[in-house]
Amino acid sequence: MAHIVAVSEQSLRYAADLIKAGDLVAFPTETVYGLGANAFDERACARIFTVKRRPSFDPLIVHIADFSTLDRIIDRSALNAATEKTMHTVISSLWPGPLTLVLPKHASIPPIVTSGLSTVAVRMPSHPVAQQLIRLSTGAIAAPSANRFGFLSPTTPQHVEESLGTDLVLILDGGHTTVGVESTILDLSEDSPHLLRPGGISREQLESLIGPVAYSGSTHKAPGQLKSHYAPRTPLYMFRDIPFADGTLFLFFDSTSRDKWCEEHNIAPTDERLAVLSPHASLEESAVNLFSVLHELDKRGAKQLYVQQVPLYGLGLAIHDRLQKASNKKKWGQTSESE
Ligand code: AMP
Ligand code: MG
Repeated sequence: MAHIVAVSEQSLRYAADLIKAGDLVAFPTETVYGLGANAFDERACARIFTVKRRPSFDPLIVHIADFSTLDRIIDRSALNAATEKTMHTVISSLWPGPLTLVLPKHASIPPIVTSGLSTVAVRMPSHPVAQQLIRLSTGAIAAPSANRFGFLSPTTPQHVEESLGTDLVLILDGGHTTVGVESTILDLSEDSPHLLRPGGISREQLESLIGPVAYSGSTHKAPGQLKSHYAPRTPLYMFRDIPFADGTLFLFFDSTSRDKWCEEHNIAPTDERLAVLSPHASLEESAVNLFSVLHELDKRGAKQLYVQQVPLYGLGLAIHDRLQKASNKKKWGQTSESE
C-alpha cells in the first residue's frame, strides 16, 4: 500500500532513488498528480501502462526540468527553421508551465514511451517538487496522470491513493494542484502548429505568441485521445440549461447561475444536491476545482450528475473538453445535449 509522504530532502532523495532503480513514484505537478518512471528505462515505462491499465497506443509525456535536457529528448536535426523558431518562442515564454510540445523524437527515448511514433511529447512542469524529483533522478520522467485509465484525474495525493494506492510505494504530498487540468498539447511536428488537447495554457495565449493555432475540437483524432475519458462512475450529462430531475446532483459554473436556477425550480441554493465550480465565475478557479468537485460528487452514489456548460474561451475550452469526454461513457448510451 502506498504511503503519502511529506516533501523533504530525504523523501525526495528516496523517491529519486526509486525512479533510478526502475520503480514508479506518484508526484505533484501544477496540473495533476503524475505517475512517473525514468523516461530512458523501457521496462519502468512499461510498468506505467500495467499499473494504470492504459492501452499501449496511448503515448506518455516526458517531463524535464532543464532546457539543456531537451536535446536528449527531441531530435533537433529533424526540425526546420520555422519550427525551431516557433518552439523557441513558446518555450521561452511558457516553460516551465502547463504546455506540452509534440516534436521529432530522439533515439534515446524508448518506443514504448511514444507508442512507436516518431514524435515525442515533452514538457517542463513548474512545480518545484516535480522539478527537484526530475533533477535528482535521471533528468527526464515519463508520466501520465496517476489514476486508472479513463477515470477522473487526481488533483490531491488522496485521489492518487484511492485510485492506485495498492500498486504504489510512494506518493509525494504536494497538496492540491494549482492549475487543476492537464497540460495543453501543441503539435509542432507538422507544417503548422495545432492544438491536440486544450489545457492549462489557453489557445488565446498561444495565438498571441505564434499566430493562428488550429484546433478541431474534442473529437479530434490524436493518438490516445479517446472520446470517453476523465469520467466519474456516476453518469454525467452536460447541459447549457440544466433541467430538473430526481435522484440527481447538479453542478453549476457559478453562484449566479445556480441562484437563478434555484429560483426557477423553487429549490434552496443551500440544497446539498447542488455544487458550483467557481462562486464568482472564474475559469481559472473552475479548472482548479473541476476534478476535486467531481471526485467529491462521485462519492455520493447518485443516479446521475448534471453539469452546466462553462464558457468556451480561456481555460473554459479545457474544462469543456474534460466534461465532454466524461459525459461520453458509451455504456450509458446517451449523448450530451451540448455537442
Ligand atoms: P496524459 O494522458 O495527460 O499523460 O497525456 C498524454 C497524451 O499526450 C496522450 O494521450 C496523447 O494524446 C498525447 N501525446 C503524447 N505523445 C504524443 C505524440 N507523440 N504525438 C501526439 N500526441 C501525443
Ligand atoms: Mg490522464
